[in-house]
Formats: sequence, structure tokens, C-alpha cells
Amino acid sequence: MRTTRMLVALAALLALSAVAPAQTRALALVGGTIYADPAAPPLRNGVVLIRDGTIAAVGTRGAVQIPNGAETIDCSGLTITAGFWNSHVHFTERKWANAARVGAPELASQLQGMLTRYGFTSVFDTGSMWENTKRIRDRIESGEVAGPRIRSTGEILEPPGGTPPDLVLDITGAMHVKLPEVAGAADARAAARALLDAGVDGIKLYAQTWAPPIVVMPPDAVRGAVDEAHRRGKLAFAHPSNRDGLLNAVRGGVDILVHTTPQMGPWNDALVDEMIAARVTLIPTLKLWRYELRHDRESIRDQFAGVGVGQLRAWRQRRGVVIFGTDVGYMNDYDPTDEYLLMKEAGMTSRDILASLTTAPAERFGASSRAGRVAAGLDADLVVLAADPAADVRAFAAVRHTIRGGRVIYSAPPPLRAR
Ligand SMILES: [Zn+2]
Repeated sequence: MRTTRMLVALAALLALSAVAPAQTRALALVGGTIYADPAAPPLRNGVVLIRDGTIAAVGTRGAVQIPNGAETIDCSGLTITAGFWNSHVHFTERKWANAARVGAPELASQLQGMLTRYGFTSVFDTGSMWENTKRIRDRIESGEVAGPRIRSTGEILEPPGGTPPDLVLDITGAMHVKLPEVAGAADARAAARALLDAGVDGIKLYAQTWAPPIVVMPPDAVRGAVDEAHRRGKLAFAHPSNRDGLLNAVRGGVDILVHTTPQMGPWNDALVDEMIAARVTLIPTLKLWRYELRHDRESIRDQFAGVGVGQLRAWRQRRGVVIFGTDVGYMNDYDPTDEYLLMKEAGMTSRDILASLTTAPAERFGASSRAGRVAAGLDADLVVLAADPAADVRAFAAVRHTIRGGRVIYSAPPPLRAR
């Protein structure tokens, strides 16, 4: 038993620092409860067989033949799902600066602390310095550093005068940055085009800024940036903040709202219907509202955060699409547990939450043929959980192993035991 625990710890260390050789042996996850798809019943006592970074077979223990010489992970009593997506993260904290020069173990440790230890095998970075984030991504994709698949919008388009002052950036722990500021359709198009030419995966804009000075992006600037993104087959993300920002974003054709908006009070049915008719996808970021008011009186914090929960409830009641995201990287409390609890409070079941972590983002970002489910032929991006989230949604954060492309990139340290 002690040897096993030492091996697990050693594997975790190796996953942090080593360049993995090309996987030749098969890997089998044996004996867990598998949620292959949030819409399907779980498969008990199942096996996931992985070969060459891809899921080779999924089935019950009797139905899947485990080849001789395969490496196995005993998943008895554990739960297996597809790899999670966090679709609202940032690589803007000072720790990510000069990404080309951060040592590989340190970079891997930082990626683990924010993302992979919580099962995130794919992330959408909704605003950072593209050249820097691209270096992080390149180092992960080369195999030098263990980390998630990264998509990014690069720099956020701001309304005129909207770039946060250095003092705000210092207090929030962020790198200093000069963001493109756009006043009308022509410069919004030009700024979006420059980013898309540089290779970003989407366009993010502040429909209304969150920090002083509070400014709203003119509607024709929103439309210009969105049109340019769509013309190139990319999605547009918006930070709405308040009523003007929200309506400008929705009416300007934005695809994804990266927050609920408790600042504006409850969402009524007409507003939710207009957003759904515009095919908007919502990232709720409910834990963020408690974090933002962490220095305020509990009653004020609870009331504000409760409005966000009510907005998500109204959204779900009218069948709005939700994808999971927490704004980590801006928020330096990385643990997603409270987000799962707040989503449940808003009426989402564990299956709904699983869909927001897997199938819904895979579909929204055009990756369903490779990701989002546990099925033969898909990338072997998987999460092994210590417990079944159907019994308690906090289990989504109780990650034992995170597997990306068939490679174990995180294993939880062995639990403390009384001697
Ligand atoms: Zn954010």
C-alpha cells in the first residue's frame, strides 16, 4: 500500500516536470462508474481503454478486452467523465509574464494549481496578451510542459478610455497591458482583424467595462467586431456588466456572455427570451460575485450573489444554454467547488452541470467530434473523480486523475492517514 502511494506521488512529480515519451503501451481505467455522456445512464464497473492518445474502447468490464502489458489504473469506487472545459479563464496574472522564460516545472505547477488539478483539460482564455499566452500554449503542445488545451481571444477590445489603469491592474495582480480601444465600426473591425490575423480563436469585447472608468462600447463598434469574427468563422465573447452592455452585446450579435449581471437586478422573461432568440450562450461565473464582494457585509454579498443565482435559474427555466466558466486568473481563488454548489442552487442537476463542463462547450466550440464524451475514437481527455457527483456536486472538484490525450497530467496526492 505504501509502495502504491509512493508510486502515485512519483507519477505526479513526473507529470509535473518530465517530457513524456510517445505513448506506446495501452492504458486502461478499470472498474469505475463511467458517465460517457451526460444524457445517458452511467455505466457501472466499466473500462476505458486508451491507445495512442485516443479512446480505443468503452464498456463494461466483461465487454472490453484489456490487452496484455497494458498499464492499468484501478478506478473501483471512482467516477470517470470526459475532460472538463473551463470556458472563462485568464493568463493575465504576473506569474504568467515572460512565458518563454518561466522554467518548465514552475510553469507546469502553475497550470496544475489553477486548472489541471480541477480536471480542466481544455480552457478558453477570454482575454490576455496573445503573444504571451501563445508561448504557454506552444510549450504545452510541444510536450515540454503538462497542461490543458488552450483556446484564446487574445487582447480584449475596449471602449475608448476603457483600458484599466495600472493601479487597478497592480491590485488585481495583473500584468500591465495596453488594450485596443475602439470607438466605431471601422476601428473595431481593424482591431478584430489584427487579432484574428495573429491567430486568436475568438474575439472578446467589453460591451461595458467593469472597473472605473465605466464606459459602454458604442453599438456599431460591437457590431463591427462581431461581424469580423463571424466572417472568419470565430465566436464573439462579451463582458456585459450592466443593462446597456448586455443589450448592446445581444443586439450586436455576440455569441457568448461571459457573466451573469447581478449589477442590473433580476432578468425578466422578455429579456431572457430575447437573449435565447439571439442564440446566446451563458457562462454564469456565480462564485465570482461572492468573491467580488468578499470585503463587504455578508448580507450585501449574499443578496448580490443571489441575484446572479436567480438569473441563471431564469435562464435555465427557459432552456438557455450554459457552459461552465469561473474567471480564474482574474479571480485568484481557483477552487471551483462553490461554482458547482451555486449552479445546483440555481436548479441545475449534476447531469446539467456535467453537460456544461463537457458536451455543451465541445459543441459550442466546434469540437464535438474530438471531445466532450467518453467514446471510442475521441481524444482521451478524461477526469477520474473520487466520488459520484450525482450524490454530491462537490465531487466534480474531487479530482483523482486528470488525463489529457491519454497522458496522466495530474494525480492527487495520497490522502492523509492517521498512524
Ligand atoms: Zn474574465
